Amino acid sequence: MARISEQTIEKVRSGSDIVEVIQGYVQIKQRGRNFFGLCPFHNEKTPSFSVNSDKQIFKCFGCGLGGGVINFIMEIEKLEFKDSIIFLAEHSGIEIELSQSYGGANDIVQQLLTIHEQASKIFIDNFNTDSGKKIYSHLLKRGLTKETIKMFSLGYSVNETQQLLKYFQDQKYSSDALLKCGLFVDTKKGYIDRFKSRIIFPIHNPTGKTIAFSGRIFKDSKIAKYVNSPETPIYHKSNVLYGLHESKHHIRTLKSAVVVEGYFDYLQLFQSGINNVVAISGTAFTDKHAQLLRRYTNNIFLAYDGDKAGIAAAIKAGYILLRHGHDAKILNLPKDIDPDDWVHKEGADPFKEAMKNSSNILDFHMNNGQFDISEESGKFNFIEEALNEISQINDSVYRELQIQSLSSIVQVSENSIYEKLNNIINSKNRYKSNEKKSSVSELKSSINLLQEELIKLCFVKDLNVRSLIFNHLDKNWITVQKLEELYDIIYIHLKSEHPPIVSIILNEIKDSEERSFLSGLLFDLEDIEGSMKMAKDCLIRLEEHYLKNKHINLREKLKSETDKNINDTINEISIIENSLKDITLKYDDVKEI
Ligand SMILES: [Zn+2]
Repeated sequence: MARISEQTIEKVRSGSDIVEVIQGYVQIKQRGRNFFGLCPFHNEKTPSFSVNSDKQIFKCFGCGLGGGVINFIMEIEKLEFKDSIIFLAEHSGIEIELSQSYGGANDIVQQLLTIHEQASKIFIDNFNTDSGKKIYSHLLKRGLTKETIKMFSLGYSVNETQQLLKYFQDQKYSSDALLKCGLFVDTKKGYIDRFKSRIIFPIHNPTGKTIAFSGRIFKDSKIAKYVNSPETPIYHKSNVLYGLHESKHHIRTLKSAVVVEGYFDYLQLFQSGINNVVAISGTAFTDKHAQLLRRYTNNIFLAYDGDKAGIAAAIKAGYILLRHGHDAKILNLPKDIDPDDWVHKEGADPFKEAMKNSSNILDFHMNNGQFDISEESGKFNFIEEALNEISQINDSVYRELQIQSLSSIVQVSENSIYEKLNNIINSKNRYKSNEKKSSVSELKSSINLLQEELIKLCFVKDLNVRSLIFNHLDKNWITVQKLEELYDIIYIHLKSEHPPIVSIILNEIKDSEERSFLSGLLFDLEDIEGSMKMAKDCLIRLEEHYLKNKHINLREKLKSETDKNINDTINEISIIENSLKDITLKYDDVKEI
């Protein structure tokens, strides 16, 4: 299997600035030496996600995740280590050499992207066939312009079972890539094309690369209206918003985004000048979508279909957006009409007017959620449903704001609503908090903190300090497994002239929890004095702890020992007692400056 060389990894790591890369995903602001922003990996209203530019690492002090630039890409793009290298290289314009192009698993991402690019070209070319020409004029009739069709690379899959298959079989791609690209389906008669006789909407990632397709039927029939690419190494549908690659600049400029349900809704709005639009693609609105949007704006308008299903889906999406700290509104569309038809028939103005008059989530929920608010029971049911959603908002300030608006729209005192909310939250949290307590107290024990201190000392500038640790530490003294594993990785760097580079060490750590832990530990390392005295004290206390523990165990053993072994154990105990007495001797010639 082809692999990526150490030099290549280093070239990509040192060639990609973590601040620049993260800015493509998160709005971060400089405060002092570090940058801060809202974490893209968990839900928050106050920024605890920090980036240290000097050290080229990130750390979220809310959810704990941390690492270097490559780890950031792995987490946010959901890629393997090697694929993240390729992704970053491409993103930062760094040329890298892969030992065998199209050879092994390491370039699967690259192969899948190229396959999609070529497939997209074939789908566009298919407009030139006789049946394709009909589809093209069908699209024009539906109100799309030639420019829109071109801009979003719409295409057509012909009525054949193996058009793509035949094409790609003759190419240089690995069978693994062809299997994983999602363009083919395995049937009893062998592989066939997934998309047959459909309008094709290519789905792009935020940088504009085609990562999946959605195929729609063009005349009413009994077969499924949409066929979509399955999840692949480059496509995770709950993480993708259709059209974002074209809209993201508009969203940033206008400081708001309109979310619609369908591809035609998106295209119709975009071409009529409502450019800050995105569509969910082939799935319901998810937490991931809310997080993705937060990279660009917190101000969201939901424009879902005006039918029953659309209304219910909009309410759901609205509460998800609230949970993620968005300021979310829902448009009141005319009954039983979708944004595509509406804007096609009446132009963009009524739609823009509806944006101005849109409702907040609670109001919309109350007025459209099948409650009879004039009846007490209807009101009660609405409050119950709304509180269930509000209880999932983690940020206390934001939760309180929702309670205030709920109280005022249903005319029930805030106190009563709080009481009900607390009941809901308490019953949900009872189990969780019990679980947490024990692990926190375990982590905070002083001996663990001492071992953390040791790990920090391995990164100080002074080679003498690091050598002292290298020469004296017995690995048995480290009792926390994850710290022992970290030490194993750091150990070989202790004797080198320069201190270990954090972002390089982070790359060597396979376990995400360990990596996050280390980046937190070292995030503000400049503030930590690493003197010889500190290292010496740390080593002495670690050894002391180790010996005392051993002493206790041996005395326990003594109580249950048969006569035969008693002398051995007593011997061992006295050796330990002597070592404890002499523990500082071996550091006598260590200068404490
Ligand atoms: Zn976080």
